[in-house]
Amino acid sequence: MHSRKGEDRLLRLNTYIAELFHSGFFNYIIGFKSQDFVPHTSTTLLTKFTQKHFIECFSVLRSLPSLLKEEEELGSHTSVIVLSQTFGLSYFWCHDTICPYGDKIPLQCLDPTCNVIQKLRFKNVKTWVYKRSCKCGWSIVKDATIPNAVLPKAVNGQIKGWGNELLYGTRARVEEVQQAPKETYDTI
Ligand SMILES: [Zn+2]
Repeated sequence: MHSRKGEDRLLRLNTYIAELFHSGFFNYIIGFKSQDFVPHTSTTLLTKFTQKHFIECFSVLRSLPSLLKEEEELGSHTSVIVLSQTFGLSYFWCHDTICPYGDKIPLQCLDPTCNVIQKLRFKNVKTWVYKRSCKCGWSIVKDATIPNAVLPKAVNGQIKGWGNELLYGTRARVEEVQQAPKETYDTI
C-alpha cells in the first residue's frame, strides 16, 4: 500500500510529466533511476542512441532495447526509464549472482560478526524469489517481484540481461509502438 505522502509525490510527478508532454517539446523522455547516478556511465549508450535515433531514424523502442544489450556495466549501476505520452517503461538489468531479478543488493554478508565481501552464494528458489547465503550460516530469502514486469529470457536456466517494467499505459500500446512502420516514427 502506498503511503499518503508517497501518493502525493507520485501525483505531483505525474502532473509534472503530463505538463512536460503537453508543452509539445518532447515525444519521449529518457532518464536514469539510480539515486546516486554517475552521468559518465551513460556516455556510450547515449552516443550510440543519438546516432541510431537522430541520424538513422530508428524509433526509441526499436533502438534503445537493442543498445541496452551492450550495456551491462550501465545496468549494474542504474535502470533506464523511457516515458511517453501513452506509456512508461523502466528497463532493469538482471544478473543471477550480482543483481538477481534486477534487485541491487549489497554484496556483503549482513551478519555483523562476519561482513565478508563478495563471497555470498545465490540460489534461485523460484521465479522472482532468490536465496543469499554465507559460509558463516547467515542467509536470507527474498521475493524480488516487480509488478507489471517482463524478465529477460532465461539462458541455461540463468536470468541475465534486461527486463522491463510497465510504469503506466498498456503492453498492447507498447507493442503497437514497437511494431509501428518507419514512416510513422515521428508521430508515435
Ligand atoms: Zn557471513
